[in-house]
Amino acid sequence: MAEIRQKTIRDEISFSGKGLQTGAQVSVVCRPAGEGSGIVFLRTDTENSVPIRVNDGIFSVSEKRRSTIGMGPHSVQTIEHLMAALWALEIDNVQIDINGAELPALDGSAKGFLDILGAAGISEQNAPRHIVKITEKEEVSDGKASITILPNESFKVSYSIDYAISSIPRETFTITLDNNSFIKEIAPARTFCLKQEAEQLLKAGLGKGADCENTLVMDETGPVGTVLRFPNEPLRHKILDLVGDMYMLGRPIMGEIIAERSGHALNALMAEKLFQKYVRNRS
Ligand SMILES: [Zn+2]
Repeated sequence: MAEIRQKTIRDEISFSGKGLQTGAQVSVVCRPAGEGSGIVFLRTDTENSVPIRVNDGIFSVSEKRRSTIGMGPHSVQTIEHLMAALWALEIDNVQIDINGAELPALDGSAKGFLDILGAAGISEQNAPRHIVKITEKEEVSDGKASITILPNESFKVSYSIDYAISSIPRETFTITLDNNSFIKEIAPARTFCLKQEAEQLLKAGLGKGADCENTLVMDETGPVGTVLRFPNEPLRHKILDLVGDMYMLGRPIMGEIIAERSGHALNALMAEKLFQKYVRNRS
């Protein structure tokens, strides 16, 4: 079998938009990066900014409803949808400069990021790609939420959702993910919240950039002010988040993930567990 090689983007590309949680308008520049350099975020609006490299095993679990990399003034929030797009395009090396604290929401899914990065083009490099090949069962849990990973020759995800609302019924969705199936079945699924939560989130200073187009505000009958892209769009979005959070390893997983009600904090815990076992001190 031909060796799989690392990739970066071919051309530099810029985009801008408002953050989902902060509502702040930010600009982002994605730059090609050399092989082995990894996915690196850099805040350009802070003094003495420190580059944050996802492959270094930095996993934030401190903030709810989003995945944040780094600490304090150097941190970047809500990176999971971009990370999922980078996973789908098999991009190993890229520098992402941002002049604010949170990535743009775009349309609330991974589709916008895929379109932008796709327009930049993909360039293959010489170094071989690193893959996390799961060799034995791994588990993390928190109350009713759990994630199990089993050895598998492909990347398969099975996610079970369970919300106390009739428009998001209990359901399990299983998919073998590759570039094509992700782009078609998962990438367009937008982020969501329950209508009863929306006011509390705003009071807590979250969701300031959310609107009816980039966020499904779910009441008992369905989303407010928009039409679902898939009957089970929230469930598919949970898989999108999981894929993005697992790519915090900076390399793809070969294995089968079975997730029950998991969110960013538990996803990060599993990613960290895998990092310690399969990535740290290994090339
Ligand atoms: Zn999300």
